[in-house]
Amino acid sequence: MNIINARLRGKPGLHRIRLDAERIAAIEPQAEVLAASTDDLDAKQNLVVAPFVEPHIHLDATLTAGEPKWNMSGTLFEGIERWAERKEITTHEDIKHRARKTIDMLADHGIQHVRTHVDVTDPKLTALKAMVEVRDEVRHLIDLQIVAFPQEGIESYANGRALMEQAVALGADVVGGIPHFENTRDQGVSSVKFLMELAERTGCLVDVHCDETDDPQSRFLEVLAEEARVRGMGARVTASHTTAMGSYDNAYCYKLFRLLKLSGINFVSCPTESIHLQGRFDSYPKRRGVTRVAEIDRAGMNVCLGQDSIVDPWYPLGNGNILRVLEAGLHICHMLGYEDLQRCLDLITDNSARTLNLGERYGIEVGRPANLLLLSAPDDYEMVRSQGHALVSVRHGKVLMRRTPSQVERLA
Ligand SMILES: [Zn+2]
Repeated sequence: MNIINARLRGKPGLHRIRLDAERIAAIEPQAEVLAASTDDLDAKQNLVVAPFVEPHIHLDATLTAGEPKWNMSGTLFEGIERWAERKEITTHEDIKHRARKTIDMLADHGIQHVRTHVDVTDPKLTALKAMVEVRDEVRHLIDLQIVAFPQEGIESYANGRALMEQAVALGADVVGGIPHFENTRDQGVSSVKFLMELAERTGCLVDVHCDETDDPQSRFLEVLAEEARVRGMGARVTASHTTAMGSYDNAYCYKLFRLLKLSGINFVSCPTESIHLQGRFDSYPKRRGVTRVAEIDRAGMNVCLGQDSIVDPWYPLGNGNILRVLEAGLHICHMLGYEDLQRCLDLITDNSARTLNLGERYGIEVGRPANLLLLSAPDDYEMVRSQGHALVSVRHGKVLMRRTPSQVERLA
């Protein structure tokens, strides 16, 4: 299969991309616009990019909002309470059904790589066992990374450490954590040391829900970064949310950034979720409750954006479209400057792939997997401005999804 008339990010002119079985066989510059033959996919002088990535979602919780009760306060903490009630009636089949349905929604929007956090504060590990099966069953649609995520804490939950160990033994790819939710500061610190040791011993990646609060005293990020630095694991470690950084004073943050850069860790922000859940204890002026995405990016560190929730106890909206989160995130994080707009797709493609450690399994380069998207616009800026879409998703050299843009008929 050939893709013709393709624009590639960072390269001038048009290109033809030849797919050979499951790999990208060649990328050739085109001198002029080509006419499509029946075997060709015509990009129509729009962007062709590597698939979108969802670096942070909770597939075990999606599509449960209002069951049995709605989160009325809109806080993170009521979300955790509502989820604890829903968890009581959760079954293996229920989780698989909702996860599969959500994965279809993600794939419909051009996402082919997903990292899901799965709640392991459950003596039966029901969600984890279900998600390990789902990971195999959806390989034709997405690559799924599973995080052993201790929603109710490691040190604060009965047998929390043993459940984390079991989750890794059962096939979790990534070790998670939630230090700001542990009962005491000391437990938060020891939970980070425990999970880093577990990851180092088992070869897992790390992705910690870190300082997801407006409390400026929540400072577990420095503990995570220092553990990563000392162990030389930075590239394999991710700090998700870090919303407390939006409330840190600048003097502390200046010092913190030095350590963060030395550590080499990655960052995920979920701006739609954070602006909804945080700032809930403020009157006015009201904080945005989002981490310093632009500043992390400008300091040369790796940061990407995720959806976090789709219709669950924490967030009632969402439809799988990561471009919606990108557009909102650029507003929320003060990133609508021209330079940011010109490379904004980094936040849902290359930066996210780096966070997930996809390496040579990702990217529009000869020899890499034949996974790519045909988009509806010629550049990053226009993609966001026009609220564009992924029109075609190709995976393993085959068309996985084709979207027909809506048509407007002018009648006068
Ligand atoms: Zn999360």
